[in-house]
Amino acid sequence: MAYETENIWQNISPEEEKEIQDFAKDYAEFMDENRTEREFIRSTVEKLQQEGFVDLAEVNNLEEGSKVYTTNQEGALLAAIIGQEPLSQGLNLVGAHVDAPRIDLKPRPLFAEKELGFFTTHYYGGIRKYQWVTLPLALHGVVVKEDGSKINIAVGMEAEDPVFYITDLLPHFAAEQREKKLKEAIKAEQLNVLVGSRPADDDEETEENNSDKDKDLASVKKALLQLIEERHGITEEDLISAELQLVPAQKSRDVGLDNTLIGSYAHDDRICSYTALRALTSMETGSKTAAIILVDREEVGSMGTTGMQSRFFENVLARLIAKSSSDYNDLMLREALENSTALSGDVTAGFDPDFAEIASKNNTPYLNHGINMTPYTGARGKGGASEASAEFRSKIRRIWNNNGVAWQATEMGEVDKGGGGTIAKFLANYNISVLDCGPAVLSMHSPFEIASKADLYHTYLAYKSYLEN
Ligand SMILES: [Zn+2]
Repeated sequence: MAYETENIWQNISPEEEKEIQDFAKDYAEFMDENRTEREFIRSTVEKLQQEGFVDLAEVNNLEEGSKVYTTNQEGALLAAIIGQEPLSQGLNLVGAHVDAPRIDLKPRPLFAEKELGFFTTHYYGGIRKYQWVTLPLALHGVVVKEDGSKINIAVGMEAEDPVFYITDLLPHFAAEQREKKLKEAIKAEQLNVLVGSRPADDDEETEENNSDKDKDLASVKKALLQLIEERHGITEEDLISAELQLVPAQKSRDVGLDNTLIGSYAHDDRICSYTALRALTSMETGSKTAAIILVDREEVGSMGTTGMQSRFFENVLARLIAKSSSDYNDLMLREALENSTALSGDVTAGFDPDFAEIASKNNTPYLNHGINMTPYTGARGKGGASEASAEFRSKIRRIWNNNGVAWQATEMGEVDKGGGGTIAKFLANYNISVLDCGPAVLSMHSPFEIASKADLYHTYLAYKSYLEN
């Protein structure tokens, strides 16, 4: 009669243990290779192609079993397996976001001060700034030159690469900083990234054009510009049409002694994006069309062309319908939207004994207890959240129970102490029944988040069983 959840590792079979460990290994590799949204989407496309999915633009007629994908500016992606029923009967959709908190370069990043060269930055998403200093960082992203040609940048993840670094004050002189509030101890404008210290060799032009006073300033910056030009063919103006991000250079690692936990940058929310991808590529064709949508910009409100609030999703759905039937009309799209259901894959806050004071009474997410069914997010009196209906919760509970999925029903934390949002409410705007669900993590939004390998695997099972049913 009572509802209880169990630790997945307890009495686990050797077969399941192996599946979990193998899955976690693949995941860690994918995470280390893909540090930005663009990289993640590009690799997702590669994986889809390997699994027989084709670009929607290259398909004229869709039929049962067709496997297609389409992307939006390397920031969002939709992939689908066409089901037996017509698309107007709706999709089984899993949505997740591929963006993660990080530190972006400003449009004019490079400066030098007292013979040290820096990139000045603008952080993205909800970071705790003090966590990002004195940490090896990698620089990833894309630079688009004036002629439209693209240069991909990825420096810092390989052992032989240099890394980048934001300094902090030494404790000996931090008396004043120590007394500041945590959120004020490191200011956004102090998040300058060290990129060099070698002055340019003297040449006559420099001597003439600069006063003695700022000679050294100009000299280190000049040397860095020369180096960037030589090494990457990039000018200072090229950096304006660029998306360059500093991400933790630390690769994923097992955490602890017993092979249960995995530490990585950006579990939030690539853990849901990756499991959604694996679920779709390993499932059989279902009665409904199964689809995953991966989007960018969730951490900043889901705005922008590649965010969940963009029309990308319904445009693609319209295209899918038009390619599945000869008599497309707008009502078919409206019906397809209304008859769809969705899981909004996103992480939640796992119970941390060191911060037990934020836990939600009797509703706390525990690591190793499986995917979380989170009927609503938001803050205070459920402000700003959609809520999954009792009927939809029942349906998902049934599917998961019938398919051996470890799951737990939870809230993110104590009601008065905070909250959060996901892409669920934007899917709900289409009148799609949607439920938030994902694994719990520790130290969410930090440069190195902790998740459970068992939860990772059961999140995959949860998405797969939903997409198939
Ligand atoms: Zn998230």
